[in-house]
Amino acid sequence: MNPIAELYRLQEIDTAWAKIRQRILQLQKFSGGSAQLLKAREEAKVAETELNQTRKEQREAETEANSLVERIRESEETLMSGQVRNPKELEALQSSVESMRRHKSALDDRGVEAMVKADELSKKFAAQSAALTDQETEWTTKQTSIDDELVRRKKEYAYLKNVREEALKTISAKYLEQYEYLRGRKNGIAVAKLEEDSCGACHMQLPVGVVGSVRRNSSLVLCTACGRILYAE
Ligand SMILES: [Zn+2]
Repeated sequence: MNPIAELYRLQEIDTAWAKIRQRILQLQKFSGGSAQLLKAREEAKVAETELNQTRKEQREAETEANSLVERIRESEETLMSGQVRNPKELEALQSSVESMRRHKSALDDRGVEAMVKADELSKKFAAQSAALTDQETEWTTKQTSIDDELVRRKKEYAYLKNVREEALKTISAKYLEQYEYLRGRKNGIAVAKLEEDSCGACHMQLPVGVVGSVRRNSSLVLCTACGRILYAE
């Protein structure tokens, strides 16, 4: 194989290699779950936390209300018993009972509000969980195909690495340097195929002398417009 054809082949290997590398990175990013799935998981978690918090508020309000019921009952018993005769003490006790009743009423309201909210949140959470379960099931299938493809792509990657190393053995250091230099600066295309009498990359028509040199394929000829290495098949 002539040296320019070897460079062209190297470019084909490198292009395929870069595509596979890109695909592997993409698959690795996907393998934890799709953006939609991650969002659904996060939302279900938030909804569950909110539901638990609301239920806790409801329980606390109910517990406190129950303990107040007990204290109100005790105070009323004392009032009824006739043990307290001092008017000031009686008045204080009555006002304490009233205050406890108001507090109890507020706690009942809070408890009911929390209960209503918890019911709503519970329905919302149940719907989200069901949707999430569906998505997880669907994802499991995708995950399997992603994992399978990853295994396949990694093999291809390793294979191309070897092919590239083999290809490099016959390419001179000078040509390789020129190739790498252009690849880095010319959008990954260092070698352009000659198409009729034009450069296959930038499509500019080339001088007759240049075209002739390219067809002889004996030395490195650069496109007079874009500077890429020209290759004639
Ligand atoms: Zn060109």
